[in-house]
Amino acid sequence: MTTDQPKPALRAVVPCDPGPTCVGRFAPSPSGPLHFGSLVAAVGSALDARRGGGRWLVRIEDIDGPRSQAGADRAILRELERLGFVWDAPPVWQSRRTELYRAALDRLAAAGRTYGCACSRRDIADSAPAVDGARRYPGTCRAGMAAGRTARSTRLRVDAGETDAVVRLVDRVQGEIVQNVECEVGDFVLAHADGQIAYQLAVVVDDAAQGVTDVVRGADLLDSTPRQILLQRLLGVPTPSYGHLPVALDRSGDKLSKQTLARPIADVPAAQILCATLEFLGQAPPADLRRAGVREVWVWAAQHWNLSRVPRLRGLPAPAQWC
Ligand SMILES: [Zn+2]
Repeated sequence: MTTDQPKPALRAVVPCDPGPTCVGRFAPSPSGPLHFGSLVAAVGSALDARRGGGRWLVRIEDIDGPRSQAGADRAILRELERLGFVWDAPPVWQSRRTELYRAALDRLAAAGRTYGCACSRRDIADSAPAVDGARRYPGTCRAGMAAGRTARSTRLRVDAGETDAVVRLVDRVQGEIVQNVECEVGDFVLAHADGQIAYQLAVVVDDAAQGVTDVVRGADLLDSTPRQILLQRLLGVPTPSYGHLPVALDRSGDKLSKQTLARPIADVPAAQILCATLEFLGQAPPADLRRAGVREVWVWAAQHWNLSRVPRLRGLPAPAQWC
């Protein structure tokens, strides 16, 4: 195990690792220190992968430049190490893999599935709300941008005459989800004019390139999963299985995040915070496990992990001391 930087010569193609049967991953964005909310996804994904006898990977999702905080990636990895996490390959950084995303974007463009869009956020402010609280894109530039306007983004042509805009998935925690991406989201952004690749595309390319078979993450990403499945179909890569864990909520019912000033967990004894996370995930660790060693906690957790005990909710209040 190492937190060393990976070699710059990354695998240059999307096709998947044959690998063992189960590959899970944890993909934090380095916008601040690890907090209870992100730890829930780390613990859930690691135990789920191990339970299936598989591998577990860490990926730093740092292409969202402005939100990334210098040094936060290293701090997160150090904190994971302190808590006894072991990853099976050197972590990867999205910011060092942009050529992979670019290649995928080029393929979609070559297939006629993309177009330039000149609309600002304000231009679409009157459109219907999208499933994730943003605005549904009304297709203004689908047939070409108005004269004199320049592209601010590249969008995916979601509905190109086939029925593939309807995505059905059976989430391992949340159950069946059906979404008509065309009606509920519209043509969505794949890249911005400054070259920044959108999360939806990057995550699909990364999961495929890393051979991820089992995605376990926070339920705040559930509504964007159909977009990712649509992209997987268009790029011809496998769709992993998905399990969306309840998101940890603060006292006002908002997602616990660096922005809501979630308490860093760095000062908390490892066994204590791991047990609190297991409890949050419905795993009912015995009370005395909190005083055990880190290793002992992981041994208990690996033996008892059961995804079907995770509450089938999109959000749950975090224990008061971590808000
Ligand atoms: Zn537009």
